Amino acid sequence: MKKEYDYLIIGSGLFGAIFAHEMTKQGKKCLVIERRNHIAGNVYTEKVEGINVHKYGAHIFHTSNKVVWDYVNSFVEFNRYTNSPIANYKGELYNLPFNMNTFYQLWGVKTPQEAFEKIEEQRAEYKHITEPKNLEEQALVLGGKDIYEKLIKGYTEKQWGRPATEIPAFIIRRLPFRFTFDNNYFNDTYQGIPIGGYTALVEKMLEGIEIKLNVDYFSDKENLDSLANNVVYTGKIDEYFDYQFGHLDYRSLRFENEILDQPNYQGNAVVNYTESQIPFTRIIEHKHFEFGTQPKTIITRENPQDMTEGQEAYYPINDEKNQIVYEKYKQLADQLSNVIFGGRLAEYKYYDMHQVVARALEVVESQN
Ligand code: FAD
Ligand code: UDP
Repeated sequence: MKKEYDYLIIGSGLFGAIFAHEMTKQGKKCLVIERRNHIAGNVYTEKVEGINVHKYGAHIFHTSNKVVWDYVNSFVEFNRYTNSPIANYKGELYNLPFNMNTFYQLWGVKTPQEAFEKIEEQRAEYKHITEPKNLEEQALVLGGKDIYEKLIKGYTEKQWGRPATEIPAFIIRRLPFRFTFDNNYFNDTYQGIPIGGYTALVEKMLEGIEIKLNVDYFSDKENLDSLANNVVYTGKIDEYFDYQFGHLDYRSLRFENEILDQPNYQGNAVVNYTESQIPFTRIIEHKHFEFGTQPKTIITRENPQDMTEGQEAYYPINDEKNQIVYEKYKQLADQLSNVIFGGRLAEYKYYDMHQVVARALEVVESQN
């Protein structure tokens, strides 16, 4: 029987917004519901003092996929921002990601050959590790002791709330390691920030589509389900199945925002604090994402924390234990022919934005 909507979409983040946009373009009727009081999910930006504040952490769009890049640029223009974070370790400053500038700052080496020899020396005692089993082993094999102890261990253990020996190795492979003087945090071909903020991007995607804010799917599931032939769910997969196999672990964050009566606090959008004694992992100075010249500035300290009841789930913890639980939920999800599970929370994957865009477009394609 044909119901009022073709698709009920739960969540107005990138996945939900792209799915709704594409299906509406194909003549389908969509209703988007959102638990929060605003659209855009974790990429949400809010204008304060003329500055677009990344309310749920710094978001830099990067991709090597031209289709994805052209897709997001078809909604709004992106600027030329290139992420080049600085690491502060006990007051010493280092360039990130690990590159010739970092090696010079660490050891005074000036050529790639000198750097290579120094790193070989630093890695020598870990040569026996042929298949790194965890982040600590992976980091030691990649860059050796000094880099691990000054730039990785403290940050990683604060970020994930557990010893680096209990964190999957793939997480550190996200970061480039190169023998050139190149401080670009990403290896991707395309990079930037939407001019006017991410909320403008998602607003454009959702133009003309019915949206209900402040609606929690689970508070009225039966009634909401009855409105549509199909459901697209972008929330937590364990919550969808009422935690019947237990809770999946996530890392949460507490954002501490401050408006400062000065034009420039740290001279860079992102400064990481890599020592373990300082509780936050990074300070974001939002105006630098858009080369702002406002008289004031806004900074945010990012404090990682455990996810307890009522906290937002930011980072899936893709270790073996959680992956086993996720697979059980996925089996249930696969049995539901009219419900699509998509995005970071519903697929329990450490997706970046470009991967969510690609995934949403792929799922749209599979509907045809
Ligand atoms: P979300 O944005 O989480 O959207 C899901 C939406 O569903 C939310 O709005 C939520 O409120 C809603 N929802 C959930 N449950 C319900 C319910 N029961 N009822 C109604 N609504 C519900 N990626 C990058 O590419 N570059 C970066 O620099 C980057 N930095 C990041 C920094 C941080 C701190 C974090 C946490 C992530 C970062 N990411 C970054 C990843 C990026 O945020 C995600 O890939 C992307 O936003 C995921 O989109 P999504 O639609 O899957 O999920
Ligand atoms: N990392 C680190 N030191 C840093 C920055 C990152 O050790 O100064 C490690 C840390 O384990 C982190 C991972 O690299 O979880 C991935 O970093 P990224 O910046 O990609 O994380 P995200 O932006 O997703 O929080």
